[in-house]
Amino acid sequence: MAANIKKNNKESLARKKVLVSGAGGFIGNHLVTFLRKKGYWVRGVDLKYPEYSLTDADEFELLDLRRWDNCLQATRGIEEVYALAADMGGMGFISSHHSEILRNNALINIHTLEASRVNGVKRYFYTSSACVYPEYKQTETNVVPLKEEDAYPAQPQDAYGWEKLIIERLCHHYREDYRLETRIVRFHNIFGPLGSWEGGREKAPAAMCRKVATVKLTGNHEIEVWGDGKQTRSFCYIDDCVEGIYRLMRSSFHEPLNLGQDRLISINELAKMVAKIAGIKIKIKHVEGPQGVRGRNSDNSKLRKVLKWEPKISLEDGLAKTYSWIEDQVRIKFHK
Ligand code: NAD
Repeated sequence: MAANIKKNNKESLARKKVLVSGAGGFIGNHLVTFLRKKGYWVRGVDLKYPEYSLTDADEFELLDLRRWDNCLQATRGIEEVYALAADMGGMGFISSHHSEILRNNALINIHTLEASRVNGVKRYFYTSSACVYPEYKQTETNVVPLKEEDAYPAQPQDAYGWEKLIIERLCHHYREDYRLETRIVRFHNIFGPLGSWEGGREKAPAAMCRKVATVKLTGNHEIEVWGDGKQTRSFCYIDDCVEGIYRLMRSSFHEPLNLGQDRLISINELAKMVAKIAGIKIKIKHVEGPQGVRGRNSDNSKLRKVLKWEPKISLEDGLAKTYSWIEDQVRIKFHK
């Protein structure tokens, strides 16, 4: 075990100890950095170390959280848990791999929550998703923004969303039955630097940045977009995401809460925005591919009311930072 633990904890005793699961992933890695800056002692746990940066965690353990004994190890001595570990990816990944996703994520979350109870964790943050919302509310591109109560009657599109709904319920029951304080967030498409940008698990903004950076470097200005590209989404920059996570964790609100931007944009418009940032003209070629629901947007009324705050970073500013990082990654790959 000693080999897979990175320790940097001389002054750790006075600081509140928190666990970030999924700390090798995109949001988890950023959250570890944010919490360290706030003065917490942070244990990160994941199957892997962050791929694109070093971790800022005081201690990092490589553990498979599908296993009960590993969940007990991960939550030992911890006051607060931020549960981000999940087998997930963009539309291409979650519209297939249903059994794998449902099985792996259910095991991770059921065991992490119970281990937290057994180890006396005081507060537990669960990362749910806009994928819990029913398909029948998302059939138009100019979709009505989704309110938290729209989740029922339930009809999520994919197994990924069903698992999130079940664990939302489990958090609710643990809070009522065992007085473990739980907080539940429903993210709407988080993006930013240091996230997956190739390999099949990347989400639309990262995939678009990679495609645009690639055509910029090759000079062939045609990029592929799945479907007719008129499907719509909203996108939230990572710095707003971690700020929102923290504010919700510190609040007394224990029902599920949306966390995202409420600016709707089509995938075609997203592609053009990235091309403008890159300073090139592109030609979009529409090809067969999974598109998910036709339209999805976040209703932020409750978020504003509960947290007296909402995400502020514009899509243009967030994409500019993300594009710049991904263009660098693509250049490095080209020159290998
Ligand atoms: P990510 O894939 O970058 O990070 C998830 C991490 O969990 C990965 O590093 C992965 O290795 C780890 N993991 C998977 N299986 C594990 C296991 N068995 N044991 C330990 N670790 C394991 O994803 P992300 O974008 O950082 O998402 C974090 C959380 O937020 C997830 O729960 C995800 O479902 C949720 N979420 C994200 C978004 C988004 O837009 N990124 C949207 C909705 C919900």
